[in-house]
Amino acid sequence: MLRRLLPACLLLALAACSSNQGATATAPVSKEELAPAPAASAPVVPAGTSTAVQKHLADYATVKLTADLSKFDARQKKMIALLVEAADSMNALYWKQAWGDRDALLQKIADPATREFAEINYGPWNRLDNDKPFVDGVGARPLGAQFYPADMTKAEFDASPLKDKTALYTLLRRDAQGQLVTVPYHEAYKAELEKTAGLLRQAAKLAKDAGFRKYLMLRADALLSDDYQASDFAWMDMKHNPIDLVIGPIETYEDQLYGYKASYESYVLIKDQAWSAKLARFAKYLPELQRELPVADKYKAEKPGADADLNAYFAVYYGGDANAGAKTIAINLPNDEQVQLKKGTRRLQLENVMQAKFEQIMLPIARELIADDQQHNLSFDAFFQNTMFHEVAHGLGIKETLDGKGTVRKALKDQASSFEEGKADILGLYMVTKLADKGELDKAKLMDNYVTFLAGILRSVRFGASDAHAKANMVRFNFFKQQGAFSRDENTGRYRVDFDKMTAAMNALSAKLLTIQGNGDYEAAKQLTDQMGAVDAELAGDLKRLDQAHIPVDIRFEQGLAVLGLKQP
Ligand SMILES: [Zn+2]
Repeated sequence: MLRRLLPACLLLALAACSSNQGATATAPVSKEELAPAPAASAPVVPAGTSTAVQKHLADYATVKLTADLSKFDARQKKMIALLVEAADSMNALYWKQAWGDRDALLQKIADPATREFAEINYGPWNRLDNDKPFVDGVGARPLGAQFYPADMTKAEFDASPLKDKTALYTLLRRDAQGQLVTVPYHEAYKAELEKTAGLLRQAAKLAKDAGFRKYLMLRADALLSDDYQASDFAWMDMKHNPIDLVIGPIETYEDQLYGYKASYESYVLIKDQAWSAKLARFAKYLPELQRELPVADKYKAEKPGADADLNAYFAVYYGGDANAGAKTIAINLPNDEQVQLKKGTRRLQLENVMQAKFEQIMLPIARELIADDQQHNLSFDAFFQNTMFHEVAHGLGIKETLDGKGTVRKALKDQASSFEEGKADILGLYMVTKLADKGELDKAKLMDNYVTFLAGILRSVRFGASDAHAKANMVRFNFFKQQGAFSRDENTGRYRVDFDKMTAAMNALSAKLLTIQGNGDYEAAKQLTDQMGAVDAELAGDLKRLDQAHIPVDIRFEQGLAVLGLKQP
């Protein structure tokens, strides 16, 4: 599953979510993001010219990555600085995996804008535009990046008897005789990894949280052995550490040839303790909310999954793969299925990055498309709530079909993930509504959630509805339209929510999706998507207005020690 082309979950808003509920996922689906455009509408300009690249640079809004570090003492700040240094070392490794010799590439690019754009893309191919080359003479991106020899064919790979050729942490290379050999990452990148491991061990000495200290030590070992399981278990066991780190070779999206090879990346994270406490409180309502679902009893007979390890964080550093092209706003790890089976996964929502995308991308879209008198209902708080409850809502509804034949996922085949995401979207709003009714959330602000929810749908179909998840958003849009949940102003082409009708439509759509899931009714699922999953001419015309508004496609970061006000460790 290619994150940047087919995001696992093309959220309703910039929302993050994770569709590997349970341990059934066969491919890592651990990061999601505001889906970048398959930039079909990008202006056609010759590659390699400064103006062309300037236009592409404007696809990214620049955002500072910071967090309030005032509650940390000097020792913890020093530890954070060491973590940032360690995270930064993933950049050099990722450059090697994605392109090869970074300095050689940058040196041969004379134009500063083009050089900057190469840094953003970790190579000469535009990640937001189907990997189109923007440096003359580099040719097409090799599907296997630098994980395999450039001249290796699939037939040659398939015929090779090498046992660890499909391993996550090996490179394929040629020996002196031209035969394929494997080289483990910890040998290929030994010098860099030793430096990184040293930084993690230094940081571990400063860690106050015992679990985090253990994790850092095990992760340092893992970088040098390519055996990550013990460190993944230690990471799952951490519950209270205010500072967190994701580091190592993790996702396999960069390997577009086979999806076998993991690329290096990193995140340094500061936990939002207040939201984590709130989420723990809301989780107690899950059984009650499940019972109250607006659907026949038999479709809500399962116990809701209340064990979601879901927390909010401020990201202060993105390195390597995480920092290339489109930026993720949520992490769901680890990918190791043995760890998942024993411990589940942790879901981390990256709040400040979500907020940046909300302000830089979603608000400008909503300003064009939401009625004037409801503009004041657009808020990040509402957006963040909708997003968080989307995550929690994956635990509601039903996982096994009523006929006892197996999982909903299996029964709905290629429709499964768009129905699961569509369910989580609509039940997320249902949860917000119910919790407001129960006095847990501010009822006076519920309209913000509804208007922001509608804006989220419009954002998600900004570039059309060509994939399954955008189709799910369109099903919701068209269903809402039929039910009068919103109206379109003829004169302005802007949309206005009708609160009561939207509440009714939310309940009706919830019932519809839950019923199709419970029946495992593939034909009904496909029919709903086919009939209601398309963008009609009127909406397409409204979305066209966004082309003139020069709204960024994604964000890039100003980040590092100086931005955080930290000293070199
Ligand atoms: Zn989701």
